Amino acid sequence: RPRPCLVDDEEGGVLFYSTPPPSSSYGYANLEKQRQRLPVFKYRTAILYLVEYHSTVIIVGETGSGKTTQIPQYLKEAGWAEGGRLIACTQPRRLAVQSVASRVAEEMGVKIGEEVGYTIRFEDKTVQGVTKIKFLTDGVLLREMMDDPLLTKYSVIMVDEAHERSISTDMLLGLLKKIQRRRPELRLIISSATIEAESMSNFFRTRKKNDGHATDDNGLKTEPSILSVEGKGYPVEIHYVQEPVSDYLQSAVDTVLLIHEKEAVGDVLVFLTGQEEIDAAVQILVEKASDKTSHFSGLLVLPLYSGLSRSDQDLIFSQTPKGKRKVVISTNIAETSLTLEGVVYVVDSGFSKQRFYNPISDIENLVVAPISKASAKQRAGRAGRLRAGKCFRLYTEDYFVKEMPAEGIPEMQRSNLVSSVIQLKALGIDNILGFDWLASPPPEAMIRALEVLYSLGILDEDAKLTTPSGFQVAEIPLDPMVSKMIIAADTLGCSEEILTIAAVLSVQSIWVSVRGKHKGLDEVKLRFAAAEGDHVTHLNVYKGFLQSGKSSQWCYKNYINYHAMTIRKAILAGFFSHASQLEEYSQNGMYKTVRNSQEVYIHPSSVLFRVNPKWVVYHSLVSTDKHYMHNVIAIDPSWLIEAAPDFYQLKRPNPAIF
Ligand code: ADP
Ligand code: MG
Repeated sequence: RPRPCLVDDEEGGVLFYSTPPPSSSYGYANLEKQRQRLPVFKYRTAILYLVEYHSTVIIVGETGSGKTTQIPQYLKEAGWAEGGRLIACTQPRRLAVQSVASRVAEEMGVKIGEEVGYTIRFEDKTVQGVTKIKFLTDGVLLREMMDDPLLTKYSVIMVDEAHERSISTDMLLGLLKKIQRRRPELRLIISSATIEAESMSNFFRTRKKNDGHATDDNGLKTEPSILSVEGKGYPVEIHYVQEPVSDYLQSAVDTVLLIHEKEAVGDVLVFLTGQEEIDAAVQILVEKASDKTSHFSGLLVLPLYSGLSRSDQDLIFSQTPKGKRKVVISTNIAETSLTLEGVVYVVDSGFSKQRFYNPISDIENLVVAPISKASAKQRAGRAGRLRAGKCFRLYTEDYFVKEMPAEGIPEMQRSNLVSSVIQLKALGIDNILGFDWLASPPPEAMIRALEVLYSLGILDEDAKLTTPSGFQVAEIPLDPMVSKMIIAADTLGCSEEILTIAAVLSVQSIWVSVRGKHKGLDEVKLRFAAAEGDHVTHLNVYKGFLQSGKSSQWCYKNYINYHAMTIRKAILAGFFSHASQLEEYSQNGMYKTVRNSQEVYIHPSSVLFRVNPKWVVYHSLVSTDKHYMHNVIAIDPSWLIEAAPDFYQLKRPNPAIF
């Protein structure tokens, strides 16, 4: 698929998409040259040698040096994907998985989803027997272990971005170490931007002094080896604010405008914390840029956070048109996971969204919290990729020196552990406290998790998964409580409502809080309120939304987040292959499934029976006198392409409706 690119629009600096000519062999040769210019290229032979002779290799290298995109290709070139084996590379973030996979496919001149594929939750773009390099989230690899505990299809597993210390990465490292004991031929590569390489290496030093052998039975060195890739970062000048800022969003916007006014050409990367904030900042800057008479019209402002569409992601990487300055406003995904080439200026708010859990109160929050010095250094480093750059920190030097913590806390130590415990249990790890953790989780959180799972009937008195409930819950990739709720709804006959509720629960909030308008919101809430509580209230809101004809204006009037109301997409994400279309002149409500044009009908138990929306997605098919779709939701067909572009384009070569 040709990627869209940024085009300078004469009409006032608004960007639009254009499809560049198909890449010629010249483009390919050019990419090959780019590959060879990356710092990691000089280490190609060394890396391959180490992987050949060591069971575990730790690779440390600055962001942008080529670790993620190049090392899997080197491994493939050296034959590690031959004989039906696979090379895996894990990432903590879904967006990074998609982005690096498509980059690698492009570099190799292949179609994404074939030789180079990826898997994230609800989306698998790999083909068995064809895919050789597979990018996936650390969470997905953990799930794969439930079917294949020794991960036998992989010859090499690269655990990337290990410094992020995501909860899944930590669990993976402990489990992979176990797997290696049973599969000594499996090679591990642990790679990261900054790492306490020593502690990681100690962790993997399996056979300690007891037998004194430095090699195992296969002649592999069991001692992990560490390789440092020398980066080529340019110096970055750091600027601090003189006085603490009260509103970092406003301050970030002002700083961008100032940079545009005072500084030489070069793109700007701004670190804020989340989608809402980023959208707000983008909006202010886009308004400035739309004034054709001002010199701010030279700004091209783009958001970057997970959940962006593919074409929006591609725009981020497109070359900035001449005479323009690209401003990318990002979450900390651009800190180490993705590298944007033209950045010369970084604006660092000093904050990111982080998860915090209090086992005593059992409350887990995603909160805006100060970043660590290590993160601040990484963020600044993003300005020195092209040439010497500048980093504008929206906090004082005093704060940086005296108050900012040196390192972040691993996610494992600040999370609710319910999901982790259930996964480990499903993998047969019974003694969870005795598990080989890279950093031990807090015992209070562990005890709390065991209590919760016992009370849900997911664990029995011996702390083993119950059959079938425990194993069913373990298989659904959702919060165990939500999974349990969905399973229970099936027997209680309220799956439709529960799925709506589950979907509502999966969005942050369905209400919009407008500064100074709390009273209005409270009144609206009262109108929808159900005596049964919030869940049913959500259901009422959702019903109201449907009655309004899904009007965005209705949402606005009622302080309801319109985007949150399109939650049925969340369900769709899991069940996109279960879509059916109403036959055009059908008198009796006949649908045809998209997958194989099977005749199906909405089950009389469904609230949509007789409503017969044009497009639906069903939960399951039940055959009695006819094939009935059970648990049906109405959808907008465009969501299908959004949820699973390849599925629908491949399966429906002649998609008249799209
Ligand atoms: P690392 O993993 O060491 O941080 P990467 O392998 O991600 O480095 O990136 C190597 C180089 O490839 C970077 O210079 C980056 O700009 C470039 N690159 C990565 N992804 C893309 C993309 N989607 N589009 C264009 N360039 C990319
Ligand atoms: Mg990387």
